[in-house]
Amino acid sequence: MRVLLPLALDLAYDYRTPPEAVLPPGQFVEVPLGTKRRIGVVWDPAPQEAAVDEAKLRNVARVLDLPRLPDSTRRFIDWVARYTMAPLGSVLRMAIATPSLFQPSRPVITYAWSGREPERQTAARARVIDVLRDGPPRGAADLAEAAAVSDGVVRGLAEQGVLEAIENDPDAGFLEPPPDPDTPGPVLSADQREAAGRLSGKIGDGFAALVLEGVTGSGKTEVYFEAIATALRSASGAQVLVLVPEIALTNQLLDRFEARFGARPMSWHSELTGRARRAAWIGAATGGARVVVGARSALFLPFRDLALIVVDEEHDPAYKQEEQVIYHARDMAVVRASLSACPIILVSATPSLETMVNCWSGKYERVMLPQRHGGASLPAIEAVDMRRQSTPRGRWISPRLEEALRANVEAGEQSLLFLNRRGYAPAAICRACGNRVQRDNCSAPLVVHRYGNRLQCHHCDFTMPMPKKCPKCGAEDTIIPYGPGVERLGEEVEALFPGLRVAVMASDTVRSAREAQDFIERIEKHQLDIVIGTQLVTKGHHFPMLTLVGIVDADLGLSGGDLRAGERTYQQLWQVAGRAGRAERPGRVLVQTYMPEHPVMQALIGGDGPAFYRNEAAEREEAGWPPYGRLAALILSGVDEGEVLAHARALAARAPRGPDISVLGPAPAPYARLRGRFRHRFLVRAKRGVDIQGLVRGWLAQVPERRSVRTAIDIDPHSFL
Ligand code: ADP
Repeated sequence: MRVLLPLALDLAYDYRTPPEAVLPPGQFVEVPLGTKRRIGVVWDPAPQEAAVDEAKLRNVARVLDLPRLPDSTRRFIDWVARYTMAPLGSVLRMAIATPSLFQPSRPVITYAWSGREPERQTAARARVIDVLRDGPPRGAADLAEAAAVSDGVVRGLAEQGVLEAIENDPDAGFLEPPPDPDTPGPVLSADQREAAGRLSGKIGDGFAALVLEGVTGSGKTEVYFEAIATALRSASGAQVLVLVPEIALTNQLLDRFEARFGARPMSWHSELTGRARRAAWIGAATGGARVVVGARSALFLPFRDLALIVVDEEHDPAYKQEEQVIYHARDMAVVRASLSACPIILVSATPSLETMVNCWSGKYERVMLPQRHGGASLPAIEAVDMRRQSTPRGRWISPRLEEALRANVEAGEQSLLFLNRRGYAPAAICRACGNRVQRDNCSAPLVVHRYGNRLQCHHCDFTMPMPKKCPKCGAEDTIIPYGPGVERLGEEVEALFPGLRVAVMASDTVRSAREAQDFIERIEKHQLDIVIGTQLVTKGHHFPMLTLVGIVDADLGLSGGDLRAGERTYQQLWQVAGRAGRAERPGRVLVQTYMPEHPVMQALIGGDGPAFYRNEAAEREEAGWPPYGRLAALILSGVDEGEVLAHARALAARAPRGPDISVLGPAPAPYARLRGRFRHRFLVRAKRGVDIQGLVRGWLAQVPERRSVRTAIDIDPHSFL
């Protein structure tokens, strides 16, 4: 019998099949491995497997009382491992990355008032009793917070018997009542109704890939909610997975879901507590969780009966996981749907070029929502040609944008300034010698953060104070911040508009889902006049009072030579622009650029998305870049550069050749040193039909591995750093 362990191994190990028990594939078991015990999953036998001598095998130590990992999930894990070339065990590990799954769960204690008064009444004690008098039982921390007392007060009352402890089932409490598809939703417009009908028509009819495309505010969410309702009605245990790129910002979606279906969906993301993870995992496996809204790793939940997958904002770069198992969640979601024989809906106002090409070729079916709901017009987008603006040195808001901001403020409306750069300044340089402050062993930039006047690396947790002396030329007090980040822009806005309510939304100022929700609420309730944000602010939000968007540096994403630079910039700026002017208030967008004639700017200003896509596709096709060709990257890294180079040379000598393939490199990665490791890259380019994984596998097999060098494989790379 084979058991797959959640370790970076490619194969399942053999164990003796216990005579008394039938252990079907998917069963969780504990097995001995060396001197330890490990939890693993009974895996399907390999097809042409040689029979092993049962007598030599070790016994399974324990069979766990957990739902089995369903067939479709196991097949999906196999598929992802084959495609991404990650060890099978590493993929399994993602699917059960829930250590709490294996811990016996303790009952959850809540407190109710027993009806008795405390021996000695105090104001604090009275508040606790007041909270419980009319309300439901609460946990200790929750109760202490609600009554504004310390945990000690609650404990004291429990010891005296004034509060009564209730033991609750640990896995309950997470399961909401099932969503009700028949709760009435909004009345859809004719276009929306037609779109919803086309999506719903695919439910229960096997695999189909659909693309729901429409400008921000056209009602895509309302429309896919209809498809979810149809899926829920289609079978008594039917389940739906909704993937979202950034879980910190999904509260608005969860609220809308609740308003539409009368119950919150199960959510799945990295901030969940162990108990909530366990409950979600078990809910997916048993069918108790009917709808799961989650970040990319939700794809690996053990759904029992998946009837529909929705990928919201399918073009979002956050879907690409860049660490450990390197995979693209949108692409893998399509595979998941096909293995589960259910439809998938990819949703976006600006689909990825990959998705668009699949629509053109007829592989995906395109469903369009042409207009904003309720007649709201699209914002007017105009370029501000920075070459013609005399913007003072050290400032980033042009006179033109300043004037527009002022007018908007005077009209009592809200504005957003977009700059996709965290921190105060992207670099610190020496005024005397021009040196850029950098770590010795790392080429990732150090970013200036105003809070604490420190330099921070955004790739690891390194920080240091701003140096007093230039590390290179030794001059004193010459190190200055260089360039703008959102914090610096905040300073500029405060100087220009004293007394206004201004706030910065970036991952440094908004650290959790809760803080994000509070921030979004402040915007929605118009408690802020000017919001300054990174891409965090651009995702799928509805801000009714926002009427002016200023894109501070539209050219930012275009440098760097990434093959998707143009596409990403277009998607991101269009997404930001879409925040302006919903509902009855018309919006306006000012795009500050030094290259107003660039195709991306032209497409934005002219509102001609289709032309942009056609153009971009033609260029990629001509050059054989994805999606018209295939790519795989190999990233070699190690602390000893000599070793890394030696391995790179050995690989280069064996690099595959052929008319349909070329191998570029090895070359030092743009981040040639990261977290102390030297990095060199290869890029494999191949024609579309080539089995690039087979090619890479065959290549790597010819060169012995080196222990000191790590080789990461990135199939369909999106990052070239
Ligand atoms: P998108 O997902 O395309 O950005 P949404 O579904 O968020 O669009 O819709 C934008 C706004 O318009 C939301 O506040 C939504 O509730 C509202 N809306 C969309 N369609 C309708 C409708 N048929 N009836 C009422 N409100 C609608």
